[in-house]
Amino acid sequence: MPESAEIVVIGGGIVGVCTALELCRAGAKDVVVLDRGEPGAATTQAGAGFLDLWATTQAGAEQEVTVEEYSADFYAELGAQHDIDYVQRGNLWLALSEKAWEKKLRPLLEHPATSGAERLTPKEAAEICAVVEAQGLFTAVYQPRAAHISTAAAAKAVVKEIETSGGRFVGNREVTGIEVVGERIAGVTTSAGRIRTNAVVVAAGAWTNAVLESVGVWVPMVSLAATRFLTEPASIPVDMPGVLAPEMSDLYVREYGGALSWGCLYESSPRYDFSSGSPSALDGPSPSGEAEMLSIAGQLGETIPLLGVLPRVATFTGFPAHTPDYRAVIGPVTGVEGLWLAAGDNYAGVTHGPGFGRLLADRIMERSSIADVEPFSLDRFAKGLYSSSADVLAAPLVQSAGWE
Ligand SMILES: Cc1cc2nc3c(=O)[nH]c(=O)nc-3n(C[C@H](O)[C@H](O)[C@H](O)COP(=O)(O)OP(=O)(O)OC[C@H]3O[C@@H](n4cnc5c(N)ncnc54)[C@H](O)[C@@H]3O)c2cc1C
Repeated sequence: MPESAEIVVIGGGIVGVCTALELCRAGAKDVVVLDRGEPGAATTQAGAGFLDLWATTQAGAEQEVTVEEYSADFYAELGAQHDIDYVQRGNLWLALSEKAWEKKLRPLLEHPATSGAERLTPKEAAEICAVVEAQGLFTAVYQPRAAHISTAAAAKAVVKEIETSGGRFVGNREVTGIEVVGERIAGVTTSAGRIRTNAVVVAAGAWTNAVLESVGVWVPMVSLAATRFLTEPASIPVDMPGVLAPEMSDLYVREYGGALSWGCLYESSPRYDFSSGSPSALDGPSPSGEAEMLSIAGQLGETIPLLGVLPRVATFTGFPAHTPDYRAVIGPVTGVEGLWLAAGDNYAGVTHGPGFGRLLADRIMERSSIADVEPFSLDRFAKGLYSSSADVLAAPLVQSAGWE
């Protein structure tokens, strides 16, 4: 392990490795990523790998749309050079009700960034997607720019790019503290010694607040478990678009190796088991939310009949970190010179990782950037407004999982 570094990035999930790569590409000379495990082995590996222009469905999220467009180009380029299972098959957004059409599909369709998207009748939707039937559908939108990747492979590919750009990834290295002298970063302590540095990026996902404890900083966010399943292979065609049903607890389905990879949100354990602390285990307890997920899939039985039928062979659980306004925290910590944050992935960190990495790298390297980074500042949260996990959990957007 190096004795010193120009910048230490704590966390080798997709957000941390993308930030490190962007720092290298922006000219930082000596960037070291530390992770207590392997690249992308925590929440990132659970990610379903959908890339879309999610923020087009949210009012006032233009910076995120720019971030998503940047990330889309980033993954297309990464996919051309590495095996990350990159495919651009588009996404089919389903509305089972007029409310879902008005709230999610219409804003997506009418946003200038999705100019190639088209509205489909239920019959047309069934025709372009092998697993979808017209029954139960109100309408659908096909968004052809959307793509899919394998998330763990993408994190590993980004590490290769870091290494060819002069940076380093050090795995199996737990960060135990951040050293501050005066009001300045002085180093990082790890399970295998200390690294001198004047700049630290904390990108530790659900464990960000645990890492920040040693410097007395707290980011208003809560980690809520999310789960996806992989079914037995069933000769699902590789050109099937991804399927999204926002009103059905954000259900998503995609082809993966001839099988279906699918998931949705749930309310039962372990959803809230770690909301007031850090997840202690990566794979978490076996989800008792499983029954709830199956019941949600069952409600879609006539529209996606295969979901409830195909046996499941693997379960992946991760811990996306949610902020009260569903906006990430990207930028400096006021009062601690050299301490930077890339936190609050809000369940879309795979899509946002490259763009957030670019925003933060540009801020650190004092370059002009792709979008205004100020809306992502930690200081936007008025002091005392969110002082505990319970406060964050009670925020309307967190309560409604971004739906309201
Ligand atoms: C079921 C599911 C489906 C999803 N689907 C999608 C999707 O389709 N599209 C999408 O965009 N997003 C999706 N997401 C969200 C996405 O996976 C996350 O937003 C993203 O992976 C978060 O990345 P991260 O780098 O912030 O966190 P992580 O991947 O958790 O990385 C944090 C890293 O920090 C390390 N770390 C923590 N503490 C320490 C320490 N003390 N010392 C050293 N290292 C430390 C951990 O080991 C870990 O590797 C999904 C998530 C889940 C759970």
